[in-house]
Amino acid sequence: MENQKYTKELNVAVRVVHMACFLCEKVQKQLISTNSDQVKSKDDDSLVTVADWSVQATVSWMLSEAFGAENISIVAEEDVQTLSKSESSAILAMVVTAVNECLAEAPRFGLQRPDKALTTSQILNAISQCNSTGGPLGQHWVLDPVDGTLGFVRGDQYAVALAMIDNGEVVLGVLGCPNYPVKDDGLNRKSQQNLRVSEISSAEVGSVMYTTKGSGKSWMQPLIHRDMMFEWPNSAKLIRVSSVDDPALATFCEPVEKTNSDHSFTAGVANTVGLRKKPLRVYSMVKYAAIARGEAEIYMRFARSGYKEKIWDHAAGVLLVQEAGGMVTDAGGRPLDFSRGIYLEGLDRGIIACSGFKLHEKLIGAVYASWESSNL
Ligand SMILES: [Mg+2]
Repeated sequence: MENQKYTKELNVAVRVVHMACFLCEKVQKQLISTNSDQVKSKDDDSLVTVADWSVQATVSWMLSEAFGAENISIVAEEDVQTLSKSESSAILAMVVTAVNECLAEAPRFGLQRPDKALTTSQILNAISQCNSTGGPLGQHWVLDPVDGTLGFVRGDQYAVALAMIDNGEVVLGVLGCPNYPVKDDGLNRKSQQNLRVSEISSAEVGSVMYTTKGSGKSWMQPLIHRDMMFEWPNSAKLIRVSSVDDPALATFCEPVEKTNSDHSFTAGVANTVGLRKKPLRVYSMVKYAAIARGEAEIYMRFARSGYKEKIWDHAAGVLLVQEAGGMVTDAGGRPLDFSRGIYLEGLDRGIIACSGFKLHEKLIGAVYASWESSNL
């Protein structure tokens, strides 16, 4: 059974993430074909694109329409600082177009479109409304409009991640992965053959995964906008973690970029545990999706010291893995704490997601053994 308490929230969240995937795909195509000036650097030098702001505005608007702007709290990655600067006027105009084009298609996703196109100030307002800092009490939506912006810009993997935290616990998770092949072993197949995403037939690519806490079920469905037959929830199917528990046969994922995780440390842990396969390096929360779908068994992530993990980079993915039968903890074996604001405070060293208990136990042990000799 689904968790009945969040039926309406899940219904809206799944549809909104489908819409966001539709928006992202359109922007990504334009970005790659025109090489236009749609990418900006934020003050911390990370990338942000038309899609990040447009998705945040769209999701914020749709959630406000469904639940009432005064009733909802949204914690999300983007703000309007860069977008409001005078040199960003061209990009702001692109955001306004992208949002309105997407909202106009809302009925295709089973949602209501606005009576008339949103104005620039309504859109900026929708983005800046997502300024909640979460916390231990009440319900908070958590959004990463585009997770893995570098993957997005490169035409590779990225994700739209929407979750809800209720009294400090993640209770609902939706992950849209527009470039993740829907067929079994899609990620491995792609990396082994070194296919570009654009070389795989578009009907085979793209999925939205979702779950609610305590349901014991995670689901996947193809992108609604590809085919009218994919109406939610009829076309969804259950996903489950892998049953492989022999390290020699296990596949492990890690971030592509060394700045996000120490590759040599994970290589040491992998060696201690007896993992034989080369790591599968994937952008974004698609790594959690790969564990939940049983395409990989392990996701390890050890950020440099001083880096604080943010809740929007993990909430949806963690719940998907857990409800599909997997385990996610910090490197000390403790659950991740989503109740303390925008950061995963108190995180012990790193994050380990696993398909099952046996592999998880071995990894935790290997981290202890390797930690002393590392310099993270
Ligand atoms: Mg992001």
